[in-house]
Amino acid sequence: MMIIGGYRFSLQYARNTKERWQCSRRSYYGCKAVVRLNNGVLRYRNVEHNHEP
Ligand SMILES: [Zn+2]
Repeated sequence: MMIIGGYRFSLQYARNTKERWQCSRRSYYGCKAVVRLNNGVLRYRNVEHNHEP
């Protein structure tokens, strides 16, 4: 579990050096906030949530 800006993110998958973290409220709110890491480096982030933390 990771916290960004007060929001919780859950690891969706980790494959080789790549990780994809999704908002832990995704299933409940349909939130599309996501963070992708490659080799521990942030490669993409969308932290636009459609709900409060
Ligand atoms: Zn969210």
